[in-house]
Amino acid sequence: MLKTLKSFGFKDKRVLIRVDFNVPIENDRVTDDFRIRAALPTIQYCLNEGAKVILMSHSGRPNGIVDPNLSLMPAGEKLADLLEMPIKFSDNCISEDAHDVTLGLRSGEIHLLENLRFHIEEKNNDQSFSINLAKHGQVFINDAFGTAHRSHASNVGVSKYYNQKGMGFLIEKELEFLDEAMKVPKKPLTVILGGAKIDTKIDLINRFIQIADQILIGGGMAFTFLKAKGKDIGTSLIDPSMISEAKSILANARGKTNLIFPKDFICAKSMNDKHGSIFNSNEIPSDLMGLDIGPETIDLFSKIILDSGTILWNGPMGVFEVDGFHKGTEKIADSISRATKEESKTIVGGGDSSAAIKKFGMMRNFSHVSTGGGAALSLLSGNIMPAIYALEI
Ligand code: AMP
Repeated sequence: MLKTLKSFGFKDKRVLIRVDFNVPIENDRVTDDFRIRAALPTIQYCLNEGAKVILMSHSGRPNGIVDPNLSLMPAGEKLADLLEMPIKFSDNCISEDAHDVTLGLRSGEIHLLENLRFHIEEKNNDQSFSINLAKHGQVFINDAFGTAHRSHASNVGVSKYYNQKGMGFLIEKELEFLDEAMKVPKKPLTVILGGAKIDTKIDLINRFIQIADQILIGGGMAFTFLKAKGKDIGTSLIDPSMISEAKSILANARGKTNLIFPKDFICAKSMNDKHGSIFNSNEIPSDLMGLDIGPETIDLFSKIILDSGTILWNGPMGVFEVDGFHKGTEKIADSISRATKEESKTIVGGGDSSAAIKKFGMMRNFSHVSTGGGAALSLLSGNIMPAIYALEI
């Protein structure tokens, strides 16, 4: 059984919360606070219930070395701004001083621990490091969805030392949209996939072939499938090691779901060309590469999106970072936004699709935007998440 926040009594208890404050920082300031805001409901609930809150997180990949550029201090300052309250900070998550600060906390106070990954033991899921982390709290709450597909000391290791453990509101919400909603989707269910890397999405495609009404494939990954179908793709992105996998997906999908590929592309010599030209997907010139989906595809995909009950989107439709090749992704994001207004359930599966909607100012236009990239893909692929499994009692 997985316990939820509301099943605990937190009054005067030391509550250790694993959050995901892995946020971009420039010049000691947080430049995107999406993940910090996503953790606020859990933190605020615990404070309101009279808990003494200890927060721990990783930031970047310091590989066990203290790197001031990856300090969580700016995240703490951002959190203090958002909550309008002071926050205590320790520069070593397991030092005696840090434990003393925790023991001195009063109800309603927060203590943020420095970057867990300044200790190599975090990623190694080291036992004595886990014990030292566990000393901070009487109750353990995990709300860091972004790392839930990993077995680290702060999510899996510590869990062993608690009878009182459970998930925060964010993990509960991610499970509701990425797991439960996919088991009993409001039909028709449409999955839209894009991006460059096909290998990270193979398991997801194989799972959704069984349950989706249609899978729309855009972005760079479409070309590996088109090549597998025997088409000329010019100099477009391709993963040759995935062609046979793509062939078997095409064969598996026959009769089960509709795999729908772009009808046209915006093609250019390279990403540095500011203007591309539209070509039918059967007529890509040998010296050009497809860098975005074309207008006919945008119309086709948008029509399907607006007729869907549930839409799951992962991966941009083109090189959205470059002006001139961003339109396909922006228009598809806009169609999904419109579907949300028409009461469809719309889910953005994190990673680069979130980066794209952030760029287009559309973060609030969907039923749910996942805070996890790899974690979202893993959960959607049907994998067991070790950090969530570790919370079972
Ligand atoms: P992924 O991490 O697999 O979701 O890939 C995201 C990346 O795919 C983004 O940086 C896009 O610029 C890139 N991408 C999308 N479409 C294409 C394309 N047609 N050719 C090359 N790269 C693409």
